[in-house]
Amino acid sequence: MSRPVRVRFAPSPTGPLHIGGVRTALYNYLFARKMGGKMLLRIEDTDQNRFVPGAEEYIQEALKWVGIEIDEGQGPGGPHAPYRQSERREIYQKEAQRLVDEGKAYYAFDTAEELDAMRKRLEEANAPAAQYNAITRMQMRNSLTMKPEEVKARMDAGDPFVIRLKTPRKEEVRLNDLIRGWVNVHSSAIDDKVLLKSDGLPTYHLANIVDDHLMEITHVIRGEEWLPSAPLHVLLYRYLGWEDTMPQFAHLPLLLKPEGNGKLSKRDADLGGFPIFPLQWTDPITGVTARGFREDGYLPEATINFLALLGWNPGTEQELFTMDELIASFDLTQVHKAGARFDIQKAQWFNHQYIRLQPDAALAPAVQQQAEAAGFSCSPEKAEKIAALLKGRVNFAHEIFTEAGTIFNAPTTYDEAIVTAKWNDDAKKAVAVFRDALQTFDGAFMADDIKHTLGDAMQQAGIKQGKIMQAMRLALTGSGAGPDLMLTMEIIGKEETVARLEKALTTLG
Ligand code: GLU
Repeated sequence: MSRPVRVRFAPSPTGPLHIGGVRTALYNYLFARKMGGKMLLRIEDTDQNRFVPGAEEYIQEALKWVGIEIDEGQGPGGPHAPYRQSERREIYQKEAQRLVDEGKAYYAFDTAEELDAMRKRLEEANAPAAQYNAITRMQMRNSLTMKPEEVKARMDAGDPFVIRLKTPRKEEVRLNDLIRGWVNVHSSAIDDKVLLKSDGLPTYHLANIVDDHLMEITHVIRGEEWLPSAPLHVLLYRYLGWEDTMPQFAHLPLLLKPEGNGKLSKRDADLGGFPIFPLQWTDPITGVTARGFREDGYLPEATINFLALLGWNPGTEQELFTMDELIASFDLTQVHKAGARFDIQKAQWFNHQYIRLQPDAALAPAVQQQAEAAGFSCSPEKAEKIAALLKGRVNFAHEIFTEAGTIFNAPTTYDEAIVTAKWNDDAKKAVAVFRDALQTFDGAFMADDIKHTLGDAMQQAGIKQGKIMQAMRLALTGSGAGPDLMLTMEIIGKEETVARLEKALTTLG
């Protein structure tokens, strides 16, 4: 019987969410929406030493920013609350105890020194994998080797202990990963992992399995770094008696360095001058700030489009996808096995595409603000026109103002090469004639009318317009290339246009 699809994003609040985590959340979300299922958010905060204040809020804000909606879990709540693992400790304690009672787990009292000594002994004996397992456990201090009275006495005395999984000595563990296919592991390769720590909190492994079961998760979609733990998880489902409703696994490919070799790190991002966190983050202890996609000027639409294609492709040529289109096309079985190279230029390309599609009015306030901060006056209408003129030429909204340099500043120098090639007698005559024609121009100074005025003036003077346009641009902006010249004139206004033509004639002679 197929159960309704339920997936979860289960981050640990140990710092800012990595952009790879956002991709994991996104793939979960796309799959949930595509299957008409539910997307859960669970906070895995059982490692108290790694807890960072503000990290949970950061996760919520980042998901919201990229448009991933949480149906159930931390935030909206739901029937399986609480969704923060630190608030569910009794639930895990009960299951760990059940495993001990059923002989599938045991208490271990070994101190850090005793564990170290064991590791040393095994290393010296060249044991293939130094671990706590079916063989070594019999030499250690645990409820399998100690008398029941001694175990009880130690517990009554409040001695610290953990609960370990009693891994079977010879058992095949198999799982069919939706992306990677069959994974087979022999249980001798799995060690007696700690399930419950001496602080009474569960480890990731126990908490994760108990919660996925209780929260009726059908698909576990997570990063490749968890693939080595998956056999242990299968074993836990078996021991807990939940194997028949065990979720399906899908382990997502790693994000690789820009050069394609090795896992993408914060250092790569720092060296390359690009973000690997969705939002800016200031470390509460060191005060050091790490850049974010949002603050760097990436649009959420561009960010998810970029992330969606990092490790998955739709099998068509289509590159631009809205969230709804991603949902419609997404297929978990088309996710790649191989790591995905993190190419920030591709992210910039996506941003360029989405900036072009932004309404001018949405881009205008930033332009106006930057212009005013730089000491220029700029009306909202002017800012909107600048955005319309230049949004197709930039990757980021904040580059529009930089690109508008020739609008706010009359040229002080003129491109030498263009002067030599184009500033001839015809050009000088054309600039003078056009200047004169503009003196008598009245009405609104709009691109279309400017174009007619220029065309008429050139015709009357017997000058081929195509031959002098670059010189005209040179006179107005100082360079030989740039955005639409008629719109540029409309934006700088009639007086400024005339003044620039005049100045070019006197400066260039
Ligand atoms: N808390 C784990 C992490 O942050 C979750 C892994 C999983 O999804 O099972 O990576």
